[in-house]
Amino acid sequence: ASSFVPLQNPKESEINDDDEPPALSPSDFEPSCSTNNPQPQQAGSSSTLVASENTSVRSANALLENPEGRNHPTFYLRSRSAAINTAALKDDVYESLDYDVCDNVLFKEEQKRTDNARFNIKKDILRWIIFIQIGVVTALIACVIDIPIEELSAVKYTFLKDSVDNNVAVNLNPNGNLVIPYLYWILMSIIPVILGAALVTYVEPITAGSGMPQVKSYLNGVKIPRIVRIKTLAVKAVGVVTAVVGGLVGGKEGPMAHAGAVVAAGISQGKSTTFVKDFRVFRAFRDDHEKRDFVLGGAAAGVAAAFGSPIGGMLFSLEEAASFWNQNLIWRTLVASIISSFTLNIVLSAYHGLHNFTFTGLFNLGKFEQPLKFEYFELPIFMLFGVTGGLLGAMWNSYNTHINRFRARFVKFKFARIIEAALVAIIGVTLACIMIFFINDCRPLGNDPTDYPVQLFCEDNEYNAMAALWFQTPEATVRSLFHDPPGSHKILTLTVFTLVYFFLACITFGLNVSLGIFIPTGLVGAAWGRLVAMIIFYIFPEATFLNPGKYALIGAAANLGGVLRMTISLSVILMETTGAETSFFFPLIVTLISAKWVGDYFTEGIYDIQIKMSCVPVLPWELLPKYKGHKASQLMSSPVICIKKIDSAKYIYKILRRCKHNGFPVVEDVEGNNRENGRVCGIVLRSQLIVILLNALYEEKKRFWEKEISIETFRNVYPRYPSIDSVRLPNEKQNYTVNLEIFMNPSPVRVSECDSASKIFKKFRALGLRHMIVINRENRVVGIITRKDFLYK
Ligand code: ATP
Repeated sequence: ASSFVPLQNPKESEINDDDEPPALSPSDFEPSCSTNNPQPQQAGSSSTLVASENTSVRSANALLENPEGRNHPTFYLRSRSAAINTAALKDDVYESLDYDVCDNVLFKEEQKRTDNARFNIKKDILRWIIFIQIGVVTALIACVIDIPIEELSAVKYTFLKDSVDNNVAVNLNPNGNLVIPYLYWILMSIIPVILGAALVTYVEPITAGSGMPQVKSYLNGVKIPRIVRIKTLAVKAVGVVTAVVGGLVGGKEGPMAHAGAVVAAGISQGKSTTFVKDFRVFRAFRDDHEKRDFVLGGAAAGVAAAFGSPIGGMLFSLEEAASFWNQNLIWRTLVASIISSFTLNIVLSAYHGLHNFTFTGLFNLGKFEQPLKFEYFELPIFMLFGVTGGLLGAMWNSYNTHINRFRARFVKFKFARIIEAALVAIIGVTLACIMIFFINDCRPLGNDPTDYPVQLFCEDNEYNAMAALWFQTPEATVRSLFHDPPGSHKILTLTVFTLVYFFLACITFGLNVSLGIFIPTGLVGAAWGRLVAMIIFYIFPEATFLNPGKYALIGAAANLGGVLRMTISLSVILMETTGAETSFFFPLIVTLISAKWVGDYFTEGIYDIQIKMSCVPVLPWELLPKYKGHKASQLMSSPVICIKKIDSAKYIYKILRRCKHNGFPVVEDVEGNNRENGRVCGIVLRSQLIVILLNALYEEKKRFWEKEISIETFRNVYPRYPSIDSVRLPNEKQNYTVNLEIFMNPSPVRVSECDSASKIFKKFRALGLRHMIVINRENRVVGIITRKDFLYK
């Protein structure tokens, strides 16, 4: 991975119509994330490809370098992390989505046919129906994940409590033998964890982690292979259940956003490629542009179901995931979120016996009995909490990145990844047992908030507060920290618990299991928030405003802000899940903003770090500073592989085999055979060309297909377009021609070579483009720009 191999384009003149496509080695197309020892392309290769400065995709490190100087704290982390996954760029795994609608002749014909009020209303109603369905199905999936977790966890912790009571309780066994419960605990942890890790590793590796970075990348316009498949959803659901039941430090909230996205992508397309089943509905929504909007709604519905926070779900999608949004989309996303939270409430309430309808989300932080109040002199304290959260979050992100870098280098075998997950589970149980054994924190039974109070070494009518923190799901522990009455824990208990949980969360996120980061991050924050309040109260007993529950909430917000760097959505989610008064929004947002500002100074948010580690070409909100002052000509690639409006099938076939590009300018008025500088009249995608060749849509055979051809021919194969390997071009068809008039997009976005980089970036970002053609004054092609050019040049 140390050599830099520029991405090569065959020169126009080098694609000799008579040549068989030369056997290219994969490296002929390889960009690399690594900048070490750049090596020029070897001369005299069989393909006689000529390296061009502009056509090369340069290192991801170059992108990550920042002009503010290498001493900036973020530089080290960014550049190192980007160097990890060179495979992603090497294999050109990540392609862009086509958010720009291809308004070719076929599309316009369909528009003409359907451009009436009735059709438009029908389409609009269908859209609403799909969003409602997304809300309902996402909530049902949330229930399918939640109920087994609750039931299995209940079995597990009841059994462990009995085991501890029988083996350790002083009246039964004064010597206190924790070994047997410890062994049971390990067994009950590693079995589900191994199962989940094996599923993720062997069946669907894309399901590892929370799924948020992948959803974020998808909504940014990058096609992440297999991210929205049914198989992915199934593995994710089972993976989350096993990991949470196994007691790994993580939650189901992030994965719910991913689950919602998969549901949305599936429902909105009205077909399943996995089961080869086309329900022949929602066909008008089969393109990347429409699908993206549904996926956004799905992610929001997932978060709404996870937290019981519809507005938070919508804001989460807008703040964290969406790269493109408009008013209608916001409306529909909110409706999907509301429906999702509502359905979840009905189903879970029905499951629990219809006593009350309080199951608005999977993550129930419990409502504060007394309205949370604050004094204005507390604001600096909230800010200080935010600053601490920012520092701790940045530290956590940095440690986690280093651990993951280590993993990527040394834990390569699949089997090793499963063992690693089991090891982390064992470490967690061992640390918990050590803490329970050595920290003697006995509290009187009665106001114990836990479902599984264990006596352990305490006297009769007492329970062990440390064990109570461990003998329940992490969600329940956050709830305890928010609502336990003052004096429920010792300072030592919370100090050790915070440190151990911080460490465990750090080594867990990045394992090959499906788990989210939200719960452990919130839990660590709640623990240190409560701890700080306890310490200050211990020093200043007259400071009665120091309600430990309130400061646990502020601590959770600070830590979450420091790790995730979300502000608006997080404050709304925390308010909706705790039922805090609207007046408490102010302290929360002050804390979150302080955490974000401080954290941003040191590292990026954890999701962004993960995206960079995977070398996913996600476009930032702003042009990278190093390109400021650049012109289009400095970013573009040239020479450009173009296709004539009427071109030979043989040429098209050959360029598709020879290069991996996905878009080709269509030119006319070509001088000689030199397509490179023809006048631009459109752009055509690789996927379209393959469909054209596969369906033999040759000009000479027009009479056979002219009447049947429609936009449906292309939609039918969406989204899994065949590869060029599935095309055969027998000798007798080599001299046929393809007329691109009705297939090409006649209005590609063109920019002048003198246009500034910042201007073209804004256009590219706002329109969600995939290709941008650079032309000269005569409308002749001089270059092409794709998203990778804004990142790796
Ligand atoms: P994407 O991967 O975003 O779907 P793509 O596959 O067409 O689009 P990239 O992989 O981003 O293109 O392109 C890699 C490099 O090749 C970029 O520097 C880009 O400018 C260049 N490039 C893209 N299309 C062409 C083309 N038709 N001719 C020459 N160079 C191209």
